[in-house]
Amino acid sequence: MSVASVAGQLRILYLYSSMSNIQDQYGRTFRTLRISLLQHCNLGCVYCVAGEAELKEANAAGDSLPVEQLLAMVRRLKEQLPLDTVRLTGGEPLLYPGLASLIRGIRAAGIDAVRLTTNGFLLERMAPALKEAGLEALNVSLDAVEEEVFARMSRRHSVQRIVRGIDAAVAAGLRVKINTVMMKGMNDSQLLPLLEFAFARGLTIRFLEVMAMGHLHDQADKYLFPQEEMLAVIAGRYSFEPLGRAGSATASYWQTAEGHQFGIIANETAPFCGDCDRLRLDSSGHIYGCLSSNHPILLDKEEDAEIWTKKLQQALLQKQTLRFTGSDLSMLHIGG
Ligand code: SAM
Repeated sequence: MSVASVAGQLRILYLYSSMSNIQDQYGRTFRTLRISLLQHCNLGCVYCVAGEAELKEANAAGDSLPVEQLLAMVRRLKEQLPLDTVRLTGGEPLLYPGLASLIRGIRAAGIDAVRLTTNGFLLERMAPALKEAGLEALNVSLDAVEEEVFARMSRRHSVQRIVRGIDAAVAAGLRVKINTVMMKGMNDSQLLPLLEFAFARGLTIRFLEVMAMGHLHDQADKYLFPQEEMLAVIAGRYSFEPLGRAGSATASYWQTAEGHQFGIIANETAPFCGDCDRLRLDSSGHIYGCLSSNHPILLDKEEDAEIWTKKLQQALLQKQTLRFTGSDLSMLHIGG
């Protein structure tokens, strides 16, 4: 055997052993990194913040990490983990200065699947630049098509503006999905209108069960609109077949007889922790292995790879075995 091939095999062995260090007893590791770019937001959604005061506090939060620091972290994490996807979120990621350079830098680091979750408020003017920077896909949150219900959910008026953003993103060639948090007594009247809105545009929509996070930690049950009930409402209008859930995905999908697809993210009634591969990085450099955890772990750029490995293993231990158990932190903080 040549020296080069021995060296090659040793390198593979080294990579395998360093990666398999960061794997739990269920075979889970981190393949997807969700970065909360900032806590600031231009909407005040009821499942995220208790009211204007909480939003004001988040919007007054200190600086987020600059592009170069985030890129350095992504590159180091990619060396230690089998990372293949980065999702940018927040707060509202379209408010992050340098977003296009960040996307370009993540692509240059060898991660092709760079995705974004946005409320779409600023999307109309930004969509072409995001596509040009290398963004692959985005999820736009839209909790109602009726303005009055939208305002009840988001404390702002902007349905038409968000619809223009969705259309601009599609026109720019971005793959777009719509995300809707369904809350009983709040926006449940919008289930079928939203489905029709998405189908008319040929888009996939996913409905999320509300999660017990932040100010809803102890009262999410009150608003829970479970998957079974959503399916019953949809069955009143459409016939559909299950398509199932792809490994480590959050949503299960169904397809209507007309060929339209919709998904449900049933965190509460059909949890999917068993194959979760997500690692979260917040806007001040802390990682979390699970949305249920309110124990931030600081990744310090001065620390060496061995310490980062230990911290990543610690984050992996935060993952739940079966189900999400709730957290005092809101998604505005930890990233949705
Ligand atoms: N501002 C962006 C947006 O609105 O899409 C990104 C951040 S926001 C926190 C991302 C998403 O997190 C929301 O649209 C919603 O789908 C989800 N989210 C936040 N709080 C939630 C909760 N308590 N239950 C379920 N989903 C929640």
